[in-house]
Amino acid sequence: MGSALYLIHTLGCQMNERDSEIMAGQLEHMGYAPAAAEEEADLIIINTCAVRGSAEDHALGHIGRLKQLKAKRPRMTLAVAGCMAQEPKTIAWLKRHAPHVDLVFGTHNLHQLPRLLDEAEQHQEMLVEVWKSAGDIMAEHVPSRRKPGVRAQVNIIYGCDKFCTYCIVPFTRGRERSRQLDDVLAEVQALAGEGYEDVTFLGQNVNSYGHDLLPRVDLADLLTQAERIAGIRWIHYMTPHPRDFSQKLLEVIGISDKVSRQLHLPVQAGSNPILRRMNRKYTREEYLDLIGRARSAIEEVTFTTDIIVGFPGESEEDFALTLDLVREVRFDSAFTFLYSPREGTPAARWEGRDPVSDPVKKDRLNRLMALQYQISWEANQLLLGTTPVVLVEGPSKKEPRIWAGRTQQGKVVLVERESEADLTDRFVPVKITSAKTFYLAGRVAGAPFPASSRSVHTIAVR
Ligand code: SF4
Repeated sequence: MGSALYLIHTLGCQMNERDSEIMAGQLEHMGYAPAAAEEEADLIIINTCAVRGSAEDHALGHIGRLKQLKAKRPRMTLAVAGCMAQEPKTIAWLKRHAPHVDLVFGTHNLHQLPRLLDEAEQHQEMLVEVWKSAGDIMAEHVPSRRKPGVRAQVNIIYGCDKFCTYCIVPFTRGRERSRQLDDVLAEVQALAGEGYEDVTFLGQNVNSYGHDLLPRVDLADLLTQAERIAGIRWIHYMTPHPRDFSQKLLEVIGISDKVSRQLHLPVQAGSNPILRRMNRKYTREEYLDLIGRARSAIEEVTFTTDIIVGFPGESEEDFALTLDLVREVRFDSAFTFLYSPREGTPAARWEGRDPVSDPVKKDRLNRLMALQYQISWEANQLLLGTTPVVLVEGPSKKEPRIWAGRTQQGKVVLVERESEADLTDRFVPVKITSAKTFYLAGRVAGAPFPASSRSVHTIAVR
C-alpha cells in the first residue's frame, strides 16, 4: 500500500504560498506524498484568499465542483483553509452548501494539521476548528516542504494592525506578531546551507517587524544581519506600508549590496480625503516626501505600487489627483484594482451610501492603466544597453526555447538560449537588447555566477 497522496490548491498572496509549504511539510512528515492530480489524491486542501470577491468566488466554485469527486471517492478528505475560513459567513455557506467538506481550519492553527486530520477522521460531520487568534503561540520548528530552487520565502511577522477600511486582512490574519530575530536569522542561515540564494521576508506589514519584540528590533536590523549571511545573494521583503518606512530602513537599503532597490510602496490613492477614508494613515504629501527621501538615500531606486480605483465617494477630482501622483512618482509598474467591497469592513457599509458606478470605475481603471503602461514602457527604455544580473527561473512558459528570469529589481527578462547549458536557478549577466512595457529581453553577456554550495533540499523543520 503506497503512501497516501495529498494535493494543496493555493490562492492569494505569498503568505498563503508559505502556509501551503508548511502544510505540505507536515503532511510529508506524516508519510503523505504529493499527488499529481485531484483524481488520485487522498487529501485535497483548498488554501483560500479573502482579499477580493473574485478570489472567494473562485474558491467556492472549486469546492462546489469537488462534490462529484467526493461522491466517487468518499474516503477522500476535503479540507478548506486560509483567510476565507476565518470568516463566519464562509463557515455558514460551507455548512449549508458544501457538507462534502470534511475539515475547515484557519490561518492561526494550520501548524496543527496532523491533529486536525486525525480528529476529522473520527468526525462524521464537517469538523470546523478556526481560532479567533493565535494567542501567544508562535509556531516555530514546524516541518515545511519548500519549492526546490534558489528562492525561498521566510515569514517574519504575521497579521496587521493597520485596519485600512477596505481590507479584510486584520480580521483574517489577526494582530501583528513578530518572530524572534534569532529564529529568523537561524532559518536564513539554514536556507543558505541548503543552497537558497534569494530570500524574501514576508509580512502583511513587513516593515512593522519587531515593534512587539523585547528588546525592540526592526526590519532594518534584520536586513543588516541577514546581509552578513554567506551564500545569500539577494534579499527581498514583502509587503511594506509607507507609514512604517523609516529613514533608518532607507539608509540600510542604500548601503546594501544584497537588498533589492525596488521599493514596493502601495499608495492606493492620490487624494487626501480618500486616503483618510481608507485609513491609510499618511497624506499625499507625506507619501511624496518618502519617495523623495528614498531617491536621496538609495541610488538607482525604483518604485512599484498598488492603487485602488473606485473607492466609495471617489470623485473625478480625487481620481485626477491619483493620476497626477502617478505622473509625479513615475512608478516602474503598478498593481491596479477595482474597489471590491469586503463584507465586515467599514468601507463595505459606505459602498451602499456612496458607490462609484461600475462604468465609471472601469473607465477610470482604463485611464490609469494607459498612463501607467506608458510610464512603464518609458522606464524600461532606460535599461536598453545595460547588463543587469538576472536570476533565471527556467524556460519561458510562452516560448520554451528562451529563458525567463528577473533582475534584483523584479524586472522580467527574457533571455535568448545560445547553448544547451541549463541556466535554471543561475545568476547570469544579461545584455538588454530590447525593452517592452512588461518585460525586457537580452542575451547572455558572461558566465553564470558560481552557484553557492547546494545540498539536496530535504523536508526542513523550521
Ligand atoms: S496595511 Fe491595510 S491593506 Fe495592508 S494588510 Fe493591513 S489593513 Fe490590509
